[in-house]
Amino acid sequence: MGRIHVLPDSLINRIAAGEVVERPASVVKELVENSLDADARSIAVECEGGGRRRIRVNDDGRGMDRDDALLALERHATSKLDHQSNLDAISTLGFRGEALSSIAAVSRFVLQTSTTDGEGTEIEVDGGRIRSVREAGLPRGTSIVVERLFFNVPARRKFLRTEATELGHIARLMTRCALANPQRRFGLEHAGRPLLQVDPVSGLDERISQIYGREFTQKLLPIDQGYEQLRIFGYAGRPAHALARRDGQHLFVNGRAVQDRVLLHAVGQAFGNTVPRGRYPALFLFIECDPSWVDVNVHPQKTEVRFYQSSVVHDRTRDAIMAALSDGAVVPELSDLRPAAASSATASEGVSRAVVTFLEREDERGQLDRRPLAGPSRPPTPMPALREPLPFSAPGSTAGTGAQPALVALAQYRNSYILAQDDRGLVLVDQHAAHERVLFERFLAEAAENRVEVQRLLFPLTIELPPAERVVLEQEIDEFRRLGFVIEPFGGNSVRLDGIPALGAKLDPEGLLRELLGQAARTKATVADTSALRHDLVTSAACQAAIKINHPLAPAEMRRLLDDLHETVSPSTCPHGRPLIFRLAHEEIERAFRRR
Ligand code: ADP
Ligand code: MG
Repeated sequence: MGRIHVLPDSLINRIAAGEVVERPASVVKELVENSLDADARSIAVECEGGGRRRIRVNDDGRGMDRDDALLALERHATSKLDHQSNLDAISTLGFRGEALSSIAAVSRFVLQTSTTDGEGTEIEVDGGRIRSVREAGLPRGTSIVVERLFFNVPARRKFLRTEATELGHIARLMTRCALANPQRRFGLEHAGRPLLQVDPVSGLDERISQIYGREFTQKLLPIDQGYEQLRIFGYAGRPAHALARRDGQHLFVNGRAVQDRVLLHAVGQAFGNTVPRGRYPALFLFIECDPSWVDVNVHPQKTEVRFYQSSVVHDRTRDAIMAALSDGAVVPELSDLRPAAASSATASEGVSRAVVTFLEREDERGQLDRRPLAGPSRPPTPMPALREPLPFSAPGSTAGTGAQPALVALAQYRNSYILAQDDRGLVLVDQHAAHERVLFERFLAEAAENRVEVQRLLFPLTIELPPAERVVLEQEIDEFRRLGFVIEPFGGNSVRLDGIPALGAKLDPEGLLRELLGQAARTKATVADTSALRHDLVTSAACQAAIKINHPLAPAEMRRLLDDLHETVSPSTCPHGRPLIFRLAHEEIERAFRRR
């Protein structure tokens, strides 16, 4: 048949150079991607010693005939690019034609493959040298065994980590493959022990549920936005359930798991104002676009991509996630108020409970080995929290079980906090942070739509600016105008100010401008991206204009603030990501008074 051929030098030279095989997980990745490209319906991976001792990948894909099987082991031999084809629109996972030869060069390697049940070819390779080629009665599909990885490259072998670490990489990789292909069956076993076992299902939600559990999945917020030539879908975790690690966030571009800076930045922005820095809500994000939109030939392991229209993809991705978050905040279920604590370990690994326990045990062992005098290797379990973060319940919401009563303001505490109640307990609201959140969202929306309300000054001001601030203003004058500043350079060091955003009507106009210029200078010094600037300016303006603490509020003002807060997208954290609302649950109150 002859599907495979060796690529011409002209094409080879354009393929991103570098090492394909770095660790056991990279072997598994390449082999499983080959199985996926061969249209396998079922892919089973077995490994031993964290994949260092043995890896076997077995699929029921289209297989190879004898000639192709031999060719496949040569460098730059592939069936996925032809002599004419360009690297600009790749629709398979592989295309480099390097994996099999690179893997076989550094291991004891056995390839069994068959295009028709009952016949097939078996090839044994030892450190890159073909030892035997024979016919064998095999079922259709391909099975590859890789033993003693890096046995002939001691320098590489040294860099391998503990069994548990390597297995962790394999487990995360298999999780991503399983997520990206719900319609296929995946299995992962380590030393005979099943770690992941998922049957084909029809959709992503069912696949997530197979891996993370039903309860976890039910709390996710669906993402689904179609734009011209771009579809963004998947699920986002609720900000209240954020983890301290990023590995619960999975990004895929055209079915390929990627770590992409542009996308990660968009994700950060979308969640940015709902979670404190360093917290990461779960995310299963799929981007589908024409293959010609992305360059996958950037990285030898193909984990990075480059978008030709990266700002479009960036903004659409951010908006799609934000849309999901805002839908989610309007009608949270009662059960959403409690973080999915039991499953958080599972969620962050994305593997079954079994592998988590296994990995923890192994890690502990590893730590003890390394530091025999270390104290207890696990921090004590934290005290159960008295107060739990509380996304708003929606009054008059039409969804699900019906309306939940809203917050009722009771009193003000120390002129700084609003005491309120809902049907589950006593609620405390930080009045400054809550008002900040309200103003922030309102102002951001107005700025995005270029409809910021302007407060004209009765008497225009002429303001002298030091050179650094003048430079920032010159660079960002359009952004300042969009935010509602009516401003003109006025010769030399001065500017003329005719109006400010109405949001700041009660503030000193000059003070507000100087404050925001200072903020702009700080932002520009730390991030080279203009959309972050607006967020930071709006955060800063909202902070300036918000009701301060130590400020008495009338009952009507408190009611108004709670109602406004309820309308926001993220009513449980301020724009800086700090919590602004807590509930003391009624059961806790009763327990404290020994009524329970
Ligand atoms: P690439 O995937 O970049 O083409 P590889 O070295 O991974 O390069 O594989 C070389 C070729 O071997 C592939 O193009 C494909 O034709 C064939 N091949 C590899 N693995 C399989 C498999 N599991 N089933 C069928 N064909 C395979
Ligand atoms: Mg490949």
